[in-house]
Amino acid sequence: MTVRYRLGDSGPGVAEIRIKLAQLGLLDHTESGVPLDTFDIDVDHAVRQFQQERGLTADGVVGPATYRVLEEARWRLGDRLLSYVVANPQSGDDVLALQRRLTELGFDVGRVDGIFGPRTGEALREFQRNMGLPADGTCGPSTFKALGRLAPIVTGGRPDSLRASDALQRAGKRLPGKIVVIDPGHGGPDRGNVGNGVEEATLVEDLAARVEGRLAATGVHAYLTRGPALTTELDEVSRAEFANETGANLVISLHIDGHSNPEASGVATYYYGSDRPGANSAIGETFAGLIQREIVARTDLVDCRTHAKTWDLLRHTRMAAVRVELGYITNPHDAARLADPDFRDVVAEAIVVAVQRVYLPSHEDAQTGALRLHDLAGA
Ligand SMILES: [Zn+2]
Repeated sequence: MTVRYRLGDSGPGVAEIRIKLAQLGLLDHTESGVPLDTFDIDVDHAVRQFQQERGLTADGVVGPATYRVLEEARWRLGDRLLSYVVANPQSGDDVLALQRRLTELGFDVGRVDGIFGPRTGEALREFQRNMGLPADGTCGPSTFKALGRLAPIVTGGRPDSLRASDALQRAGKRLPGKIVVIDPGHGGPDRGNVGNGVEEATLVEDLAARVEGRLAATGVHAYLTRGPALTTELDEVSRAEFANETGANLVISLHIDGHSNPEASGVATYYYGSDRPGANSAIGETFAGLIQREIVARTDLVDCRTHAKTWDLLRHTRMAAVRVELGYITNPHDAARLADPDFRDVVAEAIVVAVQRVYLPSHEDAQTGALRLHDLAGA
């Protein structure tokens, strides 16, 4: 049975069309005295107007194409979960809005056609990775929120600056184009170490955002393994897999230590390795040394040095990865420092300078603690 309604028809099918047109604001559904299942002149006008707006033949007849587009038009972004369904791709105005949004933000969805195809799915995943959301390719509440929230952040920036595909093709000693994954530890129900009125998960989240902002200013593509919206626990292996997927050059995991003894204090940085000879990550060790050095030079945290570990994140990542334990939240001095946003800025700068130093040729190497961010921009 083919859908086909026109002026003069009536019945439940027409009533449904009237409701759809009314929902779109094209028809006054509350008018009195008219049977609500009649295809009258007002419906005819509304259908033609709708067809005009949608690039359909404006003939006033609701055939299969017009009916399908009417059906799609009711979806607003956020009304339903969106994802790539191989057998029966979703289509609708919400898919169109999503594609427009992703395109504005520099993600390649292919054609903006309102059909959720594989390319839209890939672009969505890339966006999610950029936002530190689980890259599941499903547009749900946290992704909708991120899509809305991003507007002011990218205004004035190059829309394609977030494209990881560009970054993957770049190499060399320059910072621009490098990919760095920042991993704020814990998150969701796991708050990490707590003490002195502060939580590890919250502090490292804030620090990660500060590092991310500074890296972006130097042309680095920074990805977070998680955002503040995380609701489930994210294990180390998943974080490592995420880093591998992005093709990152470096991974920085941010943590704050805790101890039953409030005297325990200081910063330490870890890289992959063990006492077994030959198993250590050389770049990881160098990078850990640089981070440790820059933080110690710029802060009054006690130097607890660098150490080799085989923790999951360090082991499962294919690139140089380090884990910074930035002081002890259980130590009043360290906790007071960490609670201060200015202090976190100093640490963020130290970390970004360490990233630069990994790639800086040794003869250009400046004194530890002396390099400032503006020296690095466009370096
Ligand atoms: Zn931790």
